[in-house]
Amino acid sequence: MKGVGGGRFAPSPTGPLHLGSLLAAVASFLDARRQGVAWHVRLDDLDTPRNAAGADQAILVALERHGLHWDGPVVRQSERLPRYHEALDVLARQGLLFYCRCPRRRLRDHATYPGTCRRHTAPRPDSAVRLRVDDARVSLTDLVQGEQHWRLAEAGGDFVVRRRDGLFAYQLATAVDDGDGAVTRVIRGRDLLDTTARQVLVMQRLGLPVPVYGHVPLLVDRAGRKLSKQNHAAPLDLDRPADNLRRVLPALGLDGAPADAGSEALLSWAADRFDLARVPRHDSVS
Ligand code: GLU
Repeated sequence: MKGVGGGRFAPSPTGPLHLGSLLAAVASFLDARRQGVAWHVRLDDLDTPRNAAGADQAILVALERHGLHWDGPVVRQSERLPRYHEALDVLARQGLLFYCRCPRRRLRDHATYPGTCRRHTAPRPDSAVRLRVDDARVSLTDLVQGEQHWRLAEAGGDFVVRRRDGLFAYQLATAVDDGDGAVTRVIRGRDLLDTTARQVLVMQRLGLPVPVYGHVPLLVDRAGRKLSKQNHAAPLDLDRPADNLRRVLPALGLDGAPADAGSEALLSWAADRFDLARVPRHDSVS
């Protein structure tokens, strides 16, 4: 019997999984197993220009092949547009949104949004929608990285919740989905730590429950760059799932995995020992 709530793995279907994304999947899976809660898979497929044909299926097949079996139906953000519209309306009714036409090149020189379009509070075409952060602060205890404090005005400032091309922004969609109640634990890569403040702010403004967060280390190459699709990380070799798992477990503080075990046995060995408090904070070279 699974407890209330759950964890989730939320890949963007921009290409096949690689060792770096496997690490994030395994971390959230082991955490959910350890906590006795459900583990959901959500495809973050809103950024349609970046979606790759067939990547959604390839990701699901790769997860299955590694014994990473999810609970319940796979959620696709592209099927939740009415929910994001509704959330945007709630923010608009609170007077928190404005309509920004600042060209990207003008913003490039600013670490924090300079407030240029803040007076445009009525919808206007061809603009991005931004959320005012005002003097909001967010504090939380990350289960891996420890105490975190942000003052949003200094951490990027007013941010985009709907893009100029009309697509809902990652921050809005992720906050709505992670705040909808089924997700109580967000365990993901450390590169997303700083996006957390914005997502928590959206949840707070919408009155949604905030999950707990844990940001695990990344796999990096010898130059210290995150393994990612942009850096041409190799797709997982689906003929060697147990070897792939054995390569990511040490980055989560799980050394000494049995050499001859298959994927399912490896995952249950790991689930018995996984402890977020003992996950190293630093990245691992793959
Ligand atoms: N879809 C995002 C990505 O693949 C991750 C979202 C998340 O875990 O919040 O980078």
